[in-house]
Amino acid sequence: MNYDKKTIRDIDVAGKKILLRCDFNVPHDKATGVIHDDTRIVSTLPTIRYLLDHGAAVILLSHMGRPHGQWKKELSLFSARDHLEKLLGIPVPMTQDVLGPDTKEKCAALQPGQVVLVENLRFRIEEEKNDPDFARELASLADIFVFDAFGAAHRAHASTEGVSHYLPSVAGLLVEKELNFMGKALEDPKRPLVAILGGAKVSDKIGVINSLLQKADTIIIGGGMSYTFQVALGNQIGTSLLDADHVDYAREMIAKAKELGVNLLLPQDNIATKEFSADAEPVLVTPATFPADRMGMDLGPKTIESYSQAIQGAGTVIWNGPMGVFEFPAFAKGTNAVAAAMAQQTDAITIVGGGDSASAVEKSGQSAKFTHISTGGGASLEFLEGLVLPGIACLADK
Ligand code: AMP
Repeated sequence: MNYDKKTIRDIDVAGKKILLRCDFNVPHDKATGVIHDDTRIVSTLPTIRYLLDHGAAVILLSHMGRPHGQWKKELSLFSARDHLEKLLGIPVPMTQDVLGPDTKEKCAALQPGQVVLVENLRFRIEEEKNDPDFARELASLADIFVFDAFGAAHRAHASTEGVSHYLPSVAGLLVEKELNFMGKALEDPKRPLVAILGGAKVSDKIGVINSLLQKADTIIIGGGMSYTFQVALGNQIGTSLLDADHVDYAREMIAKAKELGVNLLLPQDNIATKEFSADAEPVLVTPATFPADRMGMDLGPKTIESYSQAIQGAGTVIWNGPMGVFEFPAFAKGTNAVAAAMAQQTDAITIVGGGDSASAVEKSGQSAKFTHISTGGGASLEFLEGLVLPGIACLADK
């Protein structure tokens, strides 16, 4: 996939109507509408401001949750709209329908320097089906399509890919930033390139491990997925998370790493408990002494030390997935240690690939010390895997 895409800076937007696909799918309280994390809204502000400052009229598009074509009040974009209004300091009217008479009327009346937000696109079933008629009708509202919803780039929906068949299509500034940092880190990394993978499921990370084995100098594995690798090595894991269907795959990856000279690091010790709970009694275990009745919840101190050392020597670090059950503060030490070690690497390129690891970094208060924190969870994983992202591939090349 070509990462060198035309952006809003490469075209004339003055006096034009822009269909701007954003990602306002922010975590929020379904009852009160209170937004827990506004990163996705904040990170698309530069694009909105650029377009308004350059004389464009902006029609904002987004999805929220998974209503599957049903109108669901708790998945309305109202709270995102209210928040955006505060951040932008201008009125942000919102449509009462999706491509109905209200959308058409409000978009037709829109003037340069003004914005309007269309209600949750997924209230219409045609959005996720990438229905061509729906996409054409959406496109008819504007002159240019701008894609800035990196978190939705791996989906081929009407508002992420479909509209590009009917309008000139370019990247927004957030997407440009994501492509610059992540694309460059993979294509021409400052070495050594250290990739850190964690989280619960091996199956989600199969493609990523495979593709990173070709590029990385060191691959660090932690979190729930590490126990499947331990079993592949013949080690004990007690009642820890095991993906029995992928033990052979893990064995293959270990062999492939050896063959390619990639340093594959697995935990040498873990913190384990009898129950999966926040206040369960923790004990220190090793792969050789893993009690049959305990499950691994976090990295142990020796592992934290060796993983931190590997990060210290890196030119580029890419991280995706927590190192333990970090939602329980007692078992967040491994995840926090990785975040801290990366934050100290001010001379290295440090990239966090969205999702849980991004929220762990935000919580640590050290996010400013990272080169880039991706706004896309699934999208950034697919990007790291080297897959074609439909929302990006459809944009004009430079
Ligand atoms: P993923 O969605 O695959 O990135 O996984 C994220 C989830 O993995 C988080 O909710 C973590 O709590 C969970 N996780 C990480 N380490 C473990 C572990 N050792 N046992 C169970 N779950 C884990």
